[in-house]
Amino acid sequence: MEETKLIRPAPAIEAIPPTVPFIGPEQLMRQTGHAELVRLGANESAFGPSPKAVEAMAAELPRLSWYGDPESYDLRSMLAVKHRCAIEELVVGSGIDELMGLVVRAFVAPGAAALTTRGSYPTLNYHVIGYGGRLVLAGYRSDGRLDLEALVETAHRESVSLVYLANPDNPSGTFVSHDEMQRFYDALPKNAVVLLDEAYADFVDDGELMPATIEDRLIRTRTFSKAYGMAGARIGYAITARSNVDTLQKIRLHYGVNRNAQIGAIASLSDDAFRRFVVDAVAQGREDYARLAASLNLATIPSKTNFVCIDLGTADRATRVMNELLQRGVWIRKPAQAPLDRFVRVSVGTPAMRAAFEQAFRAVLAEVPA
Ligand SMILES: *Cc1c(COP(=O)(O)O)cnc(C)c1O
Repeated sequence: MEETKLIRPAPAIEAIPPTVPFIGPEQLMRQTGHAELVRLGANESAFGPSPKAVEAMAAELPRLSWYGDPESYDLRSMLAVKHRCAIEELVVGSGIDELMGLVVRAFVAPGAAALTTRGSYPTLNYHVIGYGGRLVLAGYRSDGRLDLEALVETAHRESVSLVYLANPDNPSGTFVSHDEMQRFYDALPKNAVVLLDEAYADFVDDGELMPATIEDRLIRTRTFSKAYGMAGARIGYAITARSNVDTLQKIRLHYGVNRNAQIGAIASLSDDAFRRFVVDAVAQGREDYARLAASLNLATIPSKTNFVCIDLGTADRATRVMNELLQRGVWIRKPAQAPLDRFVRVSVGTPAMRAAFEQAFRAVLAEVPA
C-alpha cells in the first residue's frame, strides 16, 4: 500500500536535486582511514592566521557568551578606510558563500536567469538552484581563461538578472586585468547585477584590480578565508551601493557573524606585514609548483592565487592521480568540467607540505601512465 506522506518540503525545494558542493577532507579521512592528510585541496592558507589575530581572539574567548556586534561596526569602520568607501557601502557576512546566497536571494527572482562560467566556483550555482533561479552557463576558453565575450553575449541573449565572475578565478587561477575587466563590465546589460567575487584579491596588487567604483549594479565580495588564513572563522564582506546594502540588510542573519571572527578580522587588518609575508610565501610556492611541473614536462596555468593547476593530459588521468594521492594521504582537488577537467588543482602549502606533495606526485605519476 502506498504510504501518503503528510510532511513534504515546499514544491520548489522538493524539486531541487541533492547537491553537496564540497566533500570535506574530514569525510575523506573517514572514508580512507587516514588520521591526517596533507591538506592541499581547498586553498586554505597553510600559513595560518596572523599571530596577532590569534592573540586577540584567544584573549576574547571568555566573552563568547556575548553576541557579536550585529552591525560589525568596528570592522566595517576599518574596511571603509581600507577601501576608501562609506561604512554604509559595506556588509559583513559569514564568508563569501553566505553573502553569495543573500545576493542570489535578493536579485535572482524564481525563474530568473543567473550567468556564470561552467566549472567555476560552484557555490553560486548551488544558491541559484536552491532559490529557484535558472542557471545559464558560458564555457571557459581552451587556455583556461574566462570567456568574457561569451559571457557578455550570453548575458544579453538570456536577459540575465545576475552575472557572476571570480577574479582571480577559481579553479583556473587566471586573472582578468583591470582594463579588460572595465570593458567587460561596461559591455554587460545595465539591468544585471554583476557579482564580482574577489576572494583572492589580497594576492594581487591593488593597482591591478578594477578601480573601486560603487554602483548599484556592482557587488564585490572579499574574504578573510584565503590570504588572511581565517577560513574556519567564517567571515567575509561585500562592497556595494548603499541601496544594495540596505536590501541585503533586510534578509541577513543579524547574529550570523561570529563575534570572535570579527575580532580576528580586525586584528588581521592591523597586521599587513603578515599578509605581505603570506603573499610572498605563496608566490614562492607557485614558482615551486611551476618548476616541479616543468621538470615532469607538465604544463601549468599561470595563477594569481594560492593554488596552481597542473595539466595531466586527460580527465581520466587527472582523476586517477588525485585518487592515488589521497590513498597516500595527500588531498588535492581537480576541476570537474571540461576544458579544465584534465588538470589537478594544488593549493600552495608550507615548504614541508610542498615537499610531501612532490614526493607523492612523482611516485603516483610513475604508476599512472599518460
Ligand atoms: C574560497 C572561495 C570562496 C569562499 O569564501 P568564504 O569567505 O570562505 O565563504 C568564495 N569564492 C571563491 C572564488 C573562493 O575560492
